[in-house]
Amino acid sequence: AGLPYIVGNWKMNGTRAMLNEARAIDRAAARFPKVQVGVAPPATLLYRVRDAVELIGVGGQDCHAKDSGAFTGDVSAPMLKDAGADFTIVGHSERREYHGESDADVKAKAEAALSAGLAVILCVGETESQRDAGDAEAVVGAQLEGSCPKADGAPEKLSVAYEPVWAIGTGRVPSIEDVAAMHASIRGKLVELYGEGGGEVRILYGGSVKAENAAELLAVPEVGGALVGGASLTAESFLAIVGAA
Ligand code: 13P
Repeated sequence: AGLPYIVGNWKMNGTRAMLNEARAIDRAAARFPKVQVGVAPPATLLYRVRDAVELIGVGGQDCHAKDSGAFTGDVSAPMLKDAGADFTIVGHSERREYHGESDADVKAKAEAALSAGLAVILCVGETESQRDAGDAEAVVGAQLEGSCPKADGAPEKLSVAYEPVWAIGTGRVPSIEDVAAMHASIRGKLVELYGEGGGEVRILYGGSVKAENAAELLAVPEVGGALVGGASLTAESFLAIVGAA
C-alpha cells in the first residue's frame, strides 16, 4: 500500500555532527519522489533534525504511554510531536529486551502516539531460538495481537516493522521465502485485527538491510519498506538503500 517507506533508525547514535547526514539525506530525497523517507534520530537531536530538513519525515524511537508526569528520563508522545516528530517507533526489540517492555506496554505506547497525532511504526520479531523451534509466525502473531493499537488513527497511521531479532546488526537476513511467508502471515493477522483497513497497513522489513540486499527484500510481496539501523548512519549508505527501493 502506498510508496515504499524507507526509515533510518539511528538508535543511540548521533551528535550535532550527524546533522550533515540528515541534510544530505533530505537534499537527495528530492531525487526519489517515489520513495517515502524518514529518520528517527535520538530524542536529543529530534528538533534539530526537524529544523534541518524539509522533505523527509522525522520520528522518535520510543515514547512513554503517559502524556506527562514523574517519569524521569522518559519522553512522551506529545513531547515528540511538539519537537516536530511525524511518527515514532514503538516496541523495538531493544526496548522489549533491555527495558522489559511487554506487548501491553507497547500497545499503550502506540495508542499514546496515535492520540498525540503521530504515525506509528510498531516493531515485532522472533528470536533465533523461537525460529529454530518453528514458532516464528506464532510468536509474531501473538505480538501483534498484544501490541497493535486500538486508538483513533489505527490502522490508518500504523506501519508494522518485522525485525527478526537474530537479524539485527548481525549481517544475517532470513531467506526471501521466509520473509515472504512472515509478511503474508502478518498481513493475515492485520486483516483479522482491523478488517479491511488491515490490508492497507505498511509492513516494513528490518534487520541487516544494506544496499546489496535491499532491492531483493523490497521486491518481496507485502514488503512495503525497510527499517534500517547501521546502514542509516551515513547518508551514503542510507541513500543507496533509498535508491534501491
Ligand atoms: P540493523 O539494520 O543495524 O540490523 O538494525 C535494524 C534495526 O533494528 C532497525 O530498527
